[in-house]
Amino acid sequence: QENLLQVPPWSRSNSTEPSLAKDNDVKNGESFKGHGMLAPFTAGWQTTDLHPLVIEKSEGSYVYDINGKKYLDALAGLWATSLGGSEPRLVDAAIAQLKKLPFYHSFWNRTTKPSLDLAKELLEMFTARKMAKAFFVNSGSEANDTQVKLVWYYNNALGRPNKKKFIARAKSYHGSTLIAASLSGLPALHQKFDLPAPFVLHTDCPHYWRYHLPGETEEEFSTRLANNLEQLILKEGPETIAAFIAEPVMGAGGVMLPPATYFEKVQAVVKKYDILFIADEVICAFGRLGTMFGCDKYNINPDLVSLAKALSSSYLPIGAVLVSPEVSEVIHAQSNKLGIFSHGFTYSGHPTSCAVALETLKIYKERNIVDQVNKIAPRFQDGVKAYSDSPIIGEIRGTGLILGTEFTDNKSPNDPFPPEWGKFNTQFFIYAFVKHRIGAYFGAQCEKHGMLVRVSGDNILMSPPYIISPGEVDELISKYGKALKDTEKRVQ
Ligand code: PLP
Repeated sequence: QENLLQVPPWSRSNSTEPSLAKDNDVKNGESFKGHGMLAPFTAGWQTTDLHPLVIEKSEGSYVYDINGKKYLDALAGLWATSLGGSEPRLVDAAIAQLKKLPFYHSFWNRTTKPSLDLAKELLEMFTARKMAKAFFVNSGSEANDTQVKLVWYYNNALGRPNKKKFIARAKSYHGSTLIAASLSGLPALHQKFDLPAPFVLHTDCPHYWRYHLPGETEEEFSTRLANNLEQLILKEGPETIAAFIAEPVMGAGGVMLPPATYFEKVQAVVKKYDILFIADEVICAFGRLGTMFGCDKYNINPDLVSLAKALSSSYLPIGAVLVSPEVSEVIHAQSNKLGIFSHGFTYSGHPTSCAVALETLKIYKERNIVDQVNKIAPRFQDGVKAYSDSPIIGEIRGTGLILGTEFTDNKSPNDPFPPEWGKFNTQFFIYAFVKHRIGAYFGAQCEKHGMLVRVSGDNILMSPPYIISPGEVDELISKYGKALKDTEKRVQ
C-alpha cells in the first residue's frame, strides 16, 4: 500500500546528493538537530540528525528560510495562504480585534459580533444553494468531525438510529483527527492508528487517467463509478448509509479533477437513497478553482459544506460547516427538545480569527478574486502543462490555481518508477537504508532552485497564492522546468 503522504527524508539528507540540508542546518550557532518537536506528517528528522527547513519570513508569493534563502511558495503554505504571505489588511484586522476583544466564546447564547457577521457573510456568499447556518471550528479536520456528529444527531432526531455509515472515496483527504483520518482514503493515515473507524466505507477514486478501462469514455467511467457506489449502498443497506463526502477536486491525494458527468451521476445515486451529500471545500472554496466554490463549478447541491484554509487566508486558524435549512431544522428541533445543542469548541467563532476571515472575504469581493484567478490561471496551467511531453511525466492535471504532476514511466499509469534505495546517516552514525522516490527527488530539486512544492508519492502538487503575478508564474514554470531536467537526468 502506497504511503502517499510520507515524504522520504533523504531529500535533504541523502549522502549521494548535494545536501540541501547544510544551508538550513544552523544559524547563528543554533542547531535544530534532534530538536524536541514531534512534527506532523514528517519522517525521520525528529529522531535523527535530519532536520527541518525552517521558514522564518513571508512576503507576497515568497517565503524565506532562517538563512535568508528565498523560495517561491508554489503551494501557498498548505493550499492555504490565498492572499500571499504579507497582506497588511489581515494583520491590521487581527490587531484591531485583539485590541478590542481578543477572545470571547460563543457558548450558552453568548457570542461576539465578528462571529455573527462572518456567519451572515458566508451564508450570503455560498450561492450554489441556500444554506441556513454556519458553525465555526478551528480546522478542516474539525469541520469534518463536526459533519459526522451533525449527521448522526440528525438521523437520531429523525428516528433512524441505523443510518450512520459514511461513504468517502479512495485517495481522498479529509484531515487527520480520528474521524477525518477515517474518512480519508489514504492508507498512510490509517496504518498503525487502528483506522479507519468501522462506520466508514470507501468507494472508487474518480481518477479517469489512472482507472478507466480500455476504450471507456469519461462519461462511461462516471457511470461505472456511480453504479459501483449504488452497489455498495445496496450491499450495505441504504437504511445504514448516512452520508457521502467528497472534495470537488481531490487535493492531497494527487489533484484529481472529477471526470465529465461524475458529480451529476453520484448526486443522483445518493439522493435516491436519502443519503446526505457533504462537500469538503477545504481546499476548493474561495476561488481556488476559478469559481467562488467548488460546488459552483461542478453543480453540486450539498446538504453540508466544510470550509477552512482560504477562509482566513490561513493567517489565523478557522474553519466552518455550512448546514442546509432541511438539516438545521431537524437539528434545532432536537436540541430544543433536549434543551441544548451540546457540541462546540472553546474557539468556535474566535473573534480574532473571525475578524481576519471577514477581512479576507472583503478583499476577495473588492478584488473580484474569481476574475483575478481566472486571469492568471491559463498562464499557470498552460505553462506547466507545456512539459507534458517529458518522458517521465504520466499526467499533468489541474484547473484554476491548482495543479498536480504525476511521474510515471512510459506515460502509463501502470508503470510507476521503482523507489530507489539510498542511505542516510542517523543520529548514532549508523547508516540506515531508506526508500526514496522520484517525486521526492523532484521536490528536492525545486527546493534547490528556490521553490517549494508538495510531494505526495510520485505526485507533485501546487496551488500558488491568488496574488501570484505573471512574472512569478513565469518563474514558477522556469523552476519547474529546471527541476524536471534534473529529474530526467537522474532517471536516465
Ligand atoms: N479537507 C481537505 C480537503 C483538506 O485538504 C484538508 C487539509 O489539507 C483537510 C480537510 C484538513 O484540514 P486541517 O489540516 O485544517 O485539519
